[in-house]
Amino acid sequence: MTEAIDLGTANEFIPRHIGPREADTANMLEQLGYDSLDALIASVIPESIKGSSVLELSAGLSEADALAKIKAIAVKNQQFSTHIGQGYYGTHTPSPILRNLLENPAWYTAYTPYQPEISQGRLEALLNFQTLISDLSGLPITNASLLDEATAAAEAMTFCKRLSKNKASNAFFASQHCHPQTLDVLRTRAEPLGIEVVIGDEREITDASAYFGALLQYPASNGDIFDYRELVERFHAAKALVAVAADLLALTLLTPPGEFGADVALGSAQRFGVPLGFGGPHAAYFATRDAFKRDMPGRLVGVSVDRFGKPALRLAMQTREQHIRREKATSNICTAQVLLANIASMYAVYHGPQGLTRIAKRVHQLTAILAQGLAKLGLVVEQQSFFDTLSLATGSKTAALHAKARTLGINLREIDGERLGLSLDETTNQAAVERLWQVFAEPGQSPDFAELAATVASQLPQALLRQSAILTHPVFNRYHSETELMRYLRKLADKDLALDRSMIPLGSCTMKLNAASEMIPVTWAEFGNLHPFAPAEQSQGYTQLTTELEAMLCAATGYDGMSLQPNAGSQGEYAGLLAIRAYHRSRGDDQRDICLIPQSAHGTNPATASMAGMRVVVTACDARGNVDIDDLRAKAEEHKERLAALMITYPSTHGVFEEGIREICQIVHDNGGQVYIDGANMNAMVGLCAPGQFGGDVSHLNLHKTFCIPHGGGGPGVGPIGVKAHLIPFLPGHEKMARKEGAVSAAPFGSASILPITWMYITMMGGQGLKRASQLAILNANYIARRLEEHYPVLYTGSNSLVAHECILDLRPLKETSGISVDDVAKRLIDFGFHAPTMSFPVAGTLMIEPTESESKEELDRFCDAMIAIRAEIHAVERGELDPEDNPLKHAPHTAAELVGEWTHGYSREQAVYPVASLIEAKYWPPVGRVDNVFGDRNLVCACPSIEAYQEA
Ligand SMILES: *Cc1c(COP(=O)(O)O)cnc(C)c1O
Repeated sequence: MTEAIDLGTANEFIPRHIGPREADTANMLEQLGYDSLDALIASVIPESIKGSSVLELSAGLSEADALAKIKAIAVKNQQFSTHIGQGYYGTHTPSPILRNLLENPAWYTAYTPYQPEISQGRLEALLNFQTLISDLSGLPITNASLLDEATAAAEAMTFCKRLSKNKASNAFFASQHCHPQTLDVLRTRAEPLGIEVVIGDEREITDASAYFGALLQYPASNGDIFDYRELVERFHAAKALVAVAADLLALTLLTPPGEFGADVALGSAQRFGVPLGFGGPHAAYFATRDAFKRDMPGRLVGVSVDRFGKPALRLAMQTREQHIRREKATSNICTAQVLLANIASMYAVYHGPQGLTRIAKRVHQLTAILAQGLAKLGLVVEQQSFFDTLSLATGSKTAALHAKARTLGINLREIDGERLGLSLDETTNQAAVERLWQVFAEPGQSPDFAELAATVASQLPQALLRQSAILTHPVFNRYHSETELMRYLRKLADKDLALDRSMIPLGSCTMKLNAASEMIPVTWAEFGNLHPFAPAEQSQGYTQLTTELEAMLCAATGYDGMSLQPNAGSQGEYAGLLAIRAYHRSRGDDQRDICLIPQSAHGTNPATASMAGMRVVVTACDARGNVDIDDLRAKAEEHKERLAALMITYPSTHGVFEEGIREICQIVHDNGGQVYIDGANMNAMVGLCAPGQFGGDVSHLNLHKTFCIPHGGGGPGVGPIGVKAHLIPFLPGHEKMARKEGAVSAAPFGSASILPITWMYITMMGGQGLKRASQLAILNANYIARRLEEHYPVLYTGSNSLVAHECILDLRPLKETSGISVDDVAKRLIDFGFHAPTMSFPVAGTLMIEPTESESKEELDRFCDAMIAIRAEIHAVERGELDPEDNPLKHAPHTAAELVGEWTHGYSREQAVYPVASLIEAKYWPPVGRVDNVFGDRNLVCACPSIEAYQEA
């Protein structure tokens, strides 16, 4: 042997995750005038916060070793046969959906469809979701998902508050038949707003006028199906609005809420093919009447037209959203649950109306057989009518029955000491029913399944049987073979640009690699098959995973405690402000309710502050884009007595490490406030500096940005919060956790089943790899800024002329000289095969570019070349060589259909679609031309239009 071979498992992951090769890194550094990465970073990070990093993580593991390690954790989760129900049910994820959608980067690496021309595929899938929800709920206006059923119920409460004509009341009625976790989140969300939640039995309401709104559950959490028609009329007579949390599978057989007068229907789409996942992520739905469409929380897809008058989809009515309306927004929700909504929508596409109804009837029939058998065994089934859930009065035998069930590998619902519950689902079969009987039977006793099956009748209430048809649209009736579904999913994915095709340089969104090894554990049954309320001893794997992950994230941020419960950044902000609020109150500082927010803040910040019952005071930014410290100090002192918090993003939303951050934090602390550091830009900091060490009291992280959870086309996300020790007692609690109060999500660990992604990322990168990722993210951003600054001014830099991990290009001057807008440039990038950078945030008329560390130098250069070529076209417009109206920018993006039609433009076809030669061998063709923003809002259609509408156009 001549050569020494390393016999350990090489960790190749770090250079797999990081785009630039060693030689590229050296080359880029040279162009920036630095001789090492350390030297560059030393210039970028301000003196005042240097050395604040506390990252002490072990060395990274190889992909194989990390997968083996997480497998050993996963197998500690025990998969029982689970009949707990309570909003979470077993389901079969159809294999073609698992493989071609859930595990397919074309679907999971896409961004929120804000650029409609490159998002028609997922917009269509979401429109199918909205059509599904609209059909099943009987209400015409639906959104493209909310975070979970409990937060959707909380949104419904504030929705009713805004819209109810009973302005005298401050009380919201919530039925005791709602799922307990829903009631908990309602209580959390009501308190800071001064809303009184009255929980009671709706059958005993005497004075409906005491309430501005009400929440009912259908079927009820315990399994009963109540006829709410008369009650809804009474609420309406008292000018109160009614929201109904409804089970989608039951709605295939029952009269939908929209038909018995409900103003809102909401719930979870989990049981439409989305694994239990220990509580999430799952898509919640929200539907309402047409009159209330402008108050809808979340995003909704609408039908508009493109430049040629052809139907094209687009996110509608964005003027309601937090990025426009800020503290007056209808909701703070930003990232939603798009991937999960798409799974649910495809589940309905695949099964179709007959398939769904068949599943529902089967579940109901099995439940009816189960009930009969239980009665034969002498048990008291409490329901007269039910769909899939029964509650049993088991009295003093309850605890023993649970124990016996567990010895048989079965989980039942623990209602209270005297009663237990059981729910069936799509995965239940005859054997499962017989096993359930065994739990309650004496030895030798067993009802005869076949005999009962032959005689049992439907136990759905006759008066509430569904009469209206569902899912008549062709999309739900044509893809029922696997071949057809596979091709439909491929067809839709091919319409879109996701990370599997090109860089997505969206500033503030951190569209980095979502490595395959990180994704693989997500669909393991050991993580997928756990009910969030399964007994703790069965979820030891999750306990280890979450405990380790909390410690890793504390190490990365310099905080002392971490909560993984919030299921998006917006929810983390909310949980963080609640912690601050509770802290002040614990010290008798009840009056502290002012939240300072710099004007450059992300829209979720002010929207969240108002949800947390705080008053927003906006502070100015100076000419260099930094927080105007004098203005901040003046406002902090002016509101000294009532100052609750500052919400500040770091590095700033302007892409700069502000030097004054320590001083800013000090000013707020000196005036009695707490510092909330929005951690969306953590990708510039991990391993370099730590918010918990330079003045932050609490931060949220976006695991779907910095920590590799894919964006999913607009969710799922995870928005954990890190806090300093004094705020630990005020982290979100849960009925299933040590601290019971203050739940912000339905499940104790929110979107638990995607936490393995972040665990894998940190485990494979280790402390050194994470630090290198931040360094490369900064290098890549500065390289782009340097290459483009002579073509487009870089709006803000630090005192050393460097940016952090993103840079803002100022296009406003071009509007003056050429008439070309930021929109035109964004759309022209599509012709070059790129997703646009972030547009007009945080400054109107600008583009914010964030390359991330995962993009190679080649890809950065390809992007820069496109931007430079576009600048040359703008020059041509400025010089009169291209017509100010008829030019490739104004007409971008160009479709293939346009190319083969009559060519009427003053520029060539080649310039339109092959502006650089490299596109000839790999070209992305947008399926529609530029989408009309206004048309779709004026003519809101948010369910699938008829096929004729497409044919006419
Ligand atoms: C993305 C982002 C948020 C919101 O996070 P979501 O997960 O989308 O709710 C908040 N602040 C900043 C600065 C962000 O970039």
